[in-house]
Amino acid sequence: MALIVQKYGGTSVGSIEKIQNVARKVIEEHKNGNRMVVVLSAMSGQTNKLIELAHQMTEDPDCRELDVLISTGEQVSIALFSMAVKSMGYEACSLLGFQVGIKTDQIYGKARIQEIETARIFQELEKNQIVSVAGFQGLDDDGNITTLGRGGSDTTAVALAAALNADVCEIYTDVDGVYTTDPNVCLKARKMESISYDEMLEMASLGAKVLEIRSVEFAKKFNVPVHVRSTFSNERGTMVVAEAKDMEKVTVSGIAFNKNEARITIAKVPDKPGIAGKIFDPLMKAGIVVDMIVQNTSEEGLTDLTFTVIKADYNNSMKVLKEVAKEIGAEKVLGDENISKVSIIGVGMRTHAGVAQKMFNTLARENINIMMISTSEIKISVVIEEKYTELAVRVLHEAFGLDKPTAE
Ligand code: ADP
Ligand code: ASP
Ligand code: MG
Repeated sequence: MALIVQKYGGTSVGSIEKIQNVARKVIEEHKNGNRMVVVLSAMSGQTNKLIELAHQMTEDPDCRELDVLISTGEQVSIALFSMAVKSMGYEACSLLGFQVGIKTDQIYGKARIQEIETARIFQELEKNQIVSVAGFQGLDDDGNITTLGRGGSDTTAVALAAALNADVCEIYTDVDGVYTTDPNVCLKARKMESISYDEMLEMASLGAKVLEIRSVEFAKKFNVPVHVRSTFSNERGTMVVAEAKDMEKVTVSGIAFNKNEARITIAKVPDKPGIAGKIFDPLMKAGIVVDMIVQNTSEEGLTDLTFTVIKADYNNSMKVLKEVAKEIGAEKVLGDENISKVSIIGVGMRTHAGVAQKMFNTLARENINIMMISTSEIKISVVIEEKYTELAVRVLHEAFGLDKPTAE
């Protein structure tokens, strides 16, 4: 008898019929003798609607109240799911984050799970119940409701699987696994049988939203086997595991993109020691995370500093930096929201030369201008104009042979 944690995303629970479909799938596994814990997202579009409502109420919604509001989507899903299970003749119990004891830190909107109590869930499982848990939410030390950041139900599921010592964590979604790139963008994308935690971490952090990054961090830390698969078929999906087969042989194993960043340049900054700190400290204090950073060589004692931030932080960043620019005597602050970051990923890159060159030449052939570059041992990212994202993904996918089963 296995203990299985399953998570169903928004599109999988987007209607009454779809929730009934999920209930039938879960009951099947329950009938096979497994203990079932099911994490659900809000019905598709609901979280966005709630955020929109908050912004209709006020320009800058209070972050505590925003979390109270946006955590409600998941409450609807688990209640309807439990009703569906009961109507089909089985025992069920839905639990909110606080009822389970999902403890988080106090950062509203991007809280981190610190601890999960397991007693209540085991108590319900003992009673032969199918337990459903609201994804995306927790409780801080002062008893406030927190949410985990967009896509956070994945994290709830993997963290629960770790805490309960589940046999597997199954992530059910609208695609049937992790692909070499987003299959909705590149028709030639190929489903992977397995992917290593490290590569999945890179893919997720560089924009592949099929798994939320913190869920992969949890999976890696606690060695949780994660199976990403489709809600709408019984086919095997992709296993996310410590070591994926043959990965070292493949140079580039995936391509990710992120349209959710904006580029900011502070032009003609006096090039003196300590200047970078003066620019980035106020951003950090405002809770803004900076991603890629490029500093040009200085000319006549002046330099340009360019970096990216997530779009949601763009307006705030511009506001903070205009003040900073005045203080440090920089000439101006320029911003561009129409950019995207395209990345190639692969642990095999460590040992293969010429990968960067191939990437740059491939983009050049399509006349795609590269604005920024950043590299690590297992990835290369470039910033390009947003409108070329899909084209860049497709030509890179082909150039690195990702459409072929034995990519080199
Ligand atoms: P859910 O609502 O089930 O959490 P998401 O929309 O968050 O689903 O994630 C699934 C989506 O992730 C897919 O529809 C697909 O467009 C996107 N995606 C991006 N990169 C990849 C990839 N490499 N493999 C599979 N899906 C990907
Ligand atoms: N409902 C939340 C969101 O839309 C969490 C999730 O679906 O994972 O981001
Ligand atoms: Mg998701």
